[in-house]
Amino acid sequence: MISVEEALERILGFVDVLQDEEKPIMDCLGQVLAEDVCAPFDVPPHDNSAMDGYAVQFASTIGASVENPKVLRIIDEVAAGRVPAVTVEAGTAVRIMTGALIPKGADAVVPFELTDEADRAHAGRQEKQIGVRCSVGVGANVRYSGEDIKRGELVMQRGKLLRPAAIGVLASLGKTRAVVTRRPVVGILATGDELLDISQPLLSGKIYNSNSYSLACQVRSCGGVPKLLGVAPDRAEQLSAALRYGLDCDMLITSGGVSLGDYDVVKEVLAAEGDVSFWTVHMKPGKPIAFGTFKRENGRRVPHLGLPGNPVSSMVTFEIFARPALHKMMGIVDFSRRYVTAIMEGSIKNTDGRRVFARVLVNKKGNQYFARLTGSQGSGILTSMLEADGLAVIPETVAAISSGDSVEVMMLDWNEAYGF
Ligand code: AMP
Ligand code: MG
Repeated sequence: MISVEEALERILGFVDVLQDEEKPIMDCLGQVLAEDVCAPFDVPPHDNSAMDGYAVQFASTIGASVENPKVLRIIDEVAAGRVPAVTVEAGTAVRIMTGALIPKGADAVVPFELTDEADRAHAGRQEKQIGVRCSVGVGANVRYSGEDIKRGELVMQRGKLLRPAAIGVLASLGKTRAVVTRRPVVGILATGDELLDISQPLLSGKIYNSNSYSLACQVRSCGGVPKLLGVAPDRAEQLSAALRYGLDCDMLITSGGVSLGDYDVVKEVLAAEGDVSFWTVHMKPGKPIAFGTFKRENGRRVPHLGLPGNPVSSMVTFEIFARPALHKMMGIVDFSRRYVTAIMEGSIKNTDGRRVFARVLVNKKGNQYFARLTGSQGSGILTSMLEADGLAVIPETVAAISSGDSVEVMMLDWNEAYGF
């Protein structure tokens, strides 16, 4: 028996960060930047207006009030995207829209709300006049060039996880492509004589292969690219033939066939085709897992993770072991999930001193989180994962959790890595 930490450490010790690739920024969401990005120009590139209003010299507004507005002559109008043609002088104003360039000579913008723009006719203005009802300071409502990003500045460093804002910042710098750490391709093979592909009619004695689909979607939601290798029966030749289709992958994941059952051939195949260790991990669900490498013809080795066949066990062991490994390959350094401390509503037994990962629904009432089991916790009850927001982690040393006790819950839906 080994601990969860020891198993994870051994797996992480085997996988490395993958190579870089250059691609359009739209395809980079959730990937890690593999280059430093410096700004080729200021953002915004020019001084521009933060409001719809009038570009003026602030001095022209000194002493203005509702009762005694300062009346300025409108000499032009400038919309966003246009280059102003005139220079603002004392006593003049340019009608300006948000995002439009500040005309020469102007040093402040008076928003429409602080003028008599809305009731000019009533205020008795001529068409080319505007009454300013309030004084403004120098720089009022002006967004200066370089206010967001200065030319030459190091905006993002390699290692940065690209979330939506990062993609937007790259676009604001006019970058169409970025260099990122490539996504791992993960071959997924289900094993078991009882398994049918979902395209086939259900036959007696058989069940549908669901693991390949939940695992493939877990791969995708952590940023990897799943490659479904189908179903292999519990026979060594067929299993090794199916695995061969996955030899070009960065990782192979099999489900089933790692327990002590009579037909568990995964061991046999892996021992013949590579190195394999079988671990009994101190955890529930998911006790037996296999980890090893599969030899390629070119001498390189593909890491292989053999997960248990029970549908909940395969998903939970993926979460605990495969997700961190794939994130490491993608260059993601902080792959820990968020934890919340919750009050357990209901009880959990830990009969054989393993680390229990119980499927729970989490709610927040006031400042306190509450967790309750999603239903039967059997490792074959996939619907217990269906409603789960998180996994309540019960330490090996705790024999039981009673209603009202505190539990640490690893939240499953927070900090997704934007795999799509
Ligand atoms: P095993 O680990 O092969 O002993 O399988 C344990 C349990 O999980 C058995 O009840 C299997 O029928 C079930 N199982 C194995 N593989 C799958 C799969 N791909 N989809 C759904 N259930 C599976
Ligand atoms: Mg089996």
